[in-house]
Amino acid sequence: MIKGFVVAIDGPAGSGKSTVAKRIAKRLNLLYIDTGAMYRALTLAALNKNISPSDVASVINLAKKIRIKLEDSPKGLKVALNGVDVTSTIRTPQVNTCVSDIAKIKEVREIMVLEQRKLAQGNNVVLEGRDIGTVVFPKAKFKFFLDAGVDERTKRRFKEMQGVSIDEVKTNVKQRDKIDSGRKIAPLKCADDAVYIDTTKMSIDEVVNTILKYVKHG
Ligand code: C5P
Repeated sequence: MIKGFVVAIDGPAGSGKSTVAKRIAKRLNLLYIDTGAMYRALTLAALNKNISPSDVASVINLAKKIRIKLEDSPKGLKVALNGVDVTSTIRTPQVNTCVSDIAKIKEVREIMVLEQRKLAQGNNVVLEGRDIGTVVFPKAKFKFFLDAGVDERTKRRFKEMQGVSIDEVKTNVKQRDKIDSGRKIAPLKCADDAVYIDTTKMSIDEVVNTILKYVKHG
């Protein structure tokens, strides 16, 4: 495979991006980059310092200073913030509630996009996020947009979480959909040249195989 080969997978929360991207990475021996984990790590850093997402100047300042590391491990992707393992703490309800307000800040996105391009440089990669096919790698060889109905996405997220009700999960999924799709900079949307896949009634294997067919024949 040519070096610098990019597979972009975008979509809303619970559309199956992470599970599918990880499997694609394994099957094709690609570097896996979870861009949502980067926005989550910054959000956690802000929460730890009691910085509100509305304090834009402080959030930008923090984004310039923190070190986020994504590392492959036998247990899956490990996320470190300033050298501390935050793999599970970036998935708390508090982070879920604040992350979209942090991710809509223009300067934050500029910092993250630069970092994501740097991480991908010279590698064969699969990146998952909201703006990979539209902004981060608009020339990616393969682009996919995964989607599913809000009830199905809520059910999937609810299964992964503890200590929250299904109603709370649904409220958060809908709130993030609204902020992510409605923001001015790099809103969540299907790139014109992306393959749109409605995963509502599909198994993970079916989605993975659909993507693999495109990638292998492309
Ligand atoms: O994918 P995940 O649910 O972990 O992403 C968390 C949040 O990070 C999203 O709701 C969105 O606000 C933000 N995000 C983004 N752009 C990306 C990836 C994630 O704005 N490329």
